[in-house]
Amino acid sequence: MDRPPRPTRAEPREIVELKQLRGEQPELASAVDMQLALVDMQRRVQSRVPLPWIQVDPEWLQAQMAAGRPLVRFRDIPIEWTDFRLTFRQTADILHRHEALDRADYDTIVVSGRDERHALEQVVATWYETTSGSDAGRAGADRLPPGAPAALDQVLLLALRPFLTRSVEAMGERADLSGWTLGHCPFCGWEPDFAVITPSAERRLICGRCVAQWTFATLTCPFCANDDRALITSFATRDGRYRVYACDVCRRYLKAYDARHAARPVMVAVDTIATLPLDAAAIQRGYLG
Ligand SMILES: [Zn+2]
Ligand SMILES: [Zn+2]
Repeated sequence: MDRPPRPTRAEPREIVELKQLRGEQPELASAVDMQLALVDMQRRVQSRVPLPWIQVDPEWLQAQMAAGRPLVRFRDIPIEWTDFRLTFRQTADILHRHEALDRADYDTIVVSGRDERHALEQVVATWYETTSGSDAGRAGADRLPPGAPAALDQVLLLALRPFLTRSVEAMGERADLSGWTLGHCPFCGWEPDFAVITPSAERRLICGRCVAQWTFATLTCPFCANDDRALITSFATRDGRYRVYACDVCRRYLKAYDARHAARPVMVAVDTIATLPLDAAAIQRGYLG
């Protein structure tokens, strides 16, 4: 007796695009494969995380934004610790498997993720509070525990993302971002990691931690606020799809997807990988990521 074939669910668009990218640019295959594993894991985790109910006072929201302080506090992130520990471990596994995390760092990080006495909870809370600036009180403390490998930053960032993005969704419904003109994320305080040029020629920055977007002056550097356009170097890929904005004051750069003539919207998971050759070009010109 033949069983009917299992219905195949449509693959998410970013997975389809990543696979297509791997076919078109085989030199990006290993980066694409790691991204596919991360995207797949994060989607699965995110589907389990409930949308939190965040109780905030509109006056507090306004005061927080006026002070340039991000809106999502650590206590607003719906972390279920058993699930977080699993996500943390799987993230480290994926990075290690794809040679983005060396063995010694991997071992240290995995040991720190085995929870006795809630050590990991404290590490995550301190890391978030010191890097978000949402709670003024924590500024200036060390973000990582003494002796922790620097790679822990990347593991925490990726592992927290599926939880944090749910808080951003919940908070985003209440917050009016039109007055936010700063270079860091209005939700979690992290730096932009990518940008999109909208069809109306605005530039929207995209947070490297929670993937939220906010509008920012096109020719101002989000890292040092340099707004002298003579000191911003901008160059595009030959097909006009992507652009780099590099700052000649702080030497940092930001990549962007130009959606003005594009067939699809920006997809951070895809576009950050498709533009790896642009990173090489920017670094060759003496800029820093
Ligand atoms: Zn953010
Ligand atoms: Zn700069």
